[in-house]
Amino acid sequence: MIIFKSAATISQWLRHRQENGDSVGFVPTMGALHAGHLSLISQARAASGLTVCSIFVNPTQFNDPADYAQYPVTIEQDINLLEKAGCDLLFLPEVAEIYPEGITEPGPLYDLGRLETLLEGHFRPGHFQGVCRVVDRLLQIIHPNQLFLGQKDYQQCMVIRRLLEITGIQTRLVIGPTLRESDGLAMSSRNVRLTKEGRQKAPEINRVLREIRAQLQPGALKPYKEAAATQLTKAGFRVEYIEVANAVTLEPQEQWDGKLPLVALAAAFIDGVRLIDNLPLH
Ligand code: AMP
Repeated sequence: MIIFKSAATISQWLRHRQENGDSVGFVPTMGALHAGHLSLISQARAASGLTVCSIFVNPTQFNDPADYAQYPVTIEQDINLLEKAGCDLLFLPEVAEIYPEGITEPGPLYDLGRLETLLEGHFRPGHFQGVCRVVDRLLQIIHPNQLFLGQKDYQQCMVIRRLLEITGIQTRLVIGPTLRESDGLAMSSRNVRLTKEGRQKAPEINRVLREIRAQLQPGALKPYKEAAATQLTKAGFRVEYIEVANAVTLEPQEQWDGKLPLVALAAAFIDGVRLIDNLPLH
């Protein structure tokens, strides 16, 4: 695996290879890699001539400075995992390489419509603008044929789809399934910050979402959301949201006609660690 730190160098290198017919599959990450990330690497390998991973903890997408400061960094281990997974290139830039203009300068304003005010957008103001800013910049540098994202970050996938539409960037978006621990907990870099007790309770998020899916009947949705929130609160979580939304627009729903594709989504703190998860209900 070749490691690049310079945006100009990796860009030039990849452009040359693409001119010679190679397709590029790209997996952007913030590091502290786990099997969820590696599943995206293997999907990229299966679909592309060259697989590129980036590791960059993006300061502009953290609305909480403490979360940024505590974000796990395990670079040596990440490099080993990527080597073993057969990743071809790793882009490992410093902040100044991604933001030569500095991070205090406001970036472009992306018109994300309602997506920006719903769920994650509501609870993490500015988060999706920061996500778009970094992904836009990474796509300019890497210029991939295909971009691989995880469904674990359901709303983020929708935001990036929108980014591709509004910028006209000709990259194909591929969304991979959420990888889970054997007890159902969605794999996440933040899971390493959980205490032993927090780790034991954490799968409860997935359990309440599965319960919504198992019990869902046409009619009012509020009772399902309330029951799930109550169960999480009883288990010691601080719930930010449990929502049942239109799976395509993410608009929260109050009634179900038995046909509309739905997704259940949750965000909750346990042990001061913010966890998110989602489950399509059809
Ligand atoms: P992150 O490093 O958390 O920014 O994630 C990088 C990419 O990996 C994003 O596209 C995530 O959606 C994806 N990802 C994170 N966790 C998982 C998981 N458990 N299963 C599948 N993909 C994931």
